[in-house]
Amino acid sequence: MSKPLRAGGEVDSWCTKCKLVLNHRIIAMVGSQPARVECSTCGSHHNFRARAPGDKAPSAGSSRAGSSSSSSPRSTRAPTKTKIQQAAADRERTWEKAISGKGVRDFRQYRVSEIFNEGDLVKHSKFGEGVVTRILDQRKVEILFKDEPRTLAQGLTD
Ligand SMILES: [Zn+2]
Repeated sequence: MSKPLRAGGEVDSWCTKCKLVLNHRIIAMVGSQPARVECSTCGSHHNFRARAPGDKAPSAGSSRAGSSSSSSPRSTRAPTKTKIQQAAADRERTWEKAISGKGVRDFRQYRVSEIFNEGDLVKHSKFGEGVVTRILDQRKVEILFKDEPRTLAQGLTD
């Protein structure tokens, strides 16, 4: 369920400075592809790169010797728009539930040097209030903001 990309929109890109695939804002597009992006974590500008250097793109024709001639029906269709809207509404409810009744002191200012735990309440200078929904790894967390979840860095030292 990806939105059409456009300048000013957001995309996950490899950050040449953070050395992670993180949320970026698109500065310039070339055709339907982002060309220049701004890292939401460190603010640096660099070329768009969908994956970490060295990561191979998933090869389309996965040549696995298919011994079992399972005629798998063409897998599920893309979710309909209503399902996407439903998911967005669910997310917003989750976000509201996490945020509601909390005071300013329950929120930690988001910094890349912080280490987060699932359920932590975070205040981000750009995205506002959010809740940590997943620890992706030691250096990445998923934070649900009011509009959408974003992958941001954690535990980085300058
Ligand atoms: Zn960065």
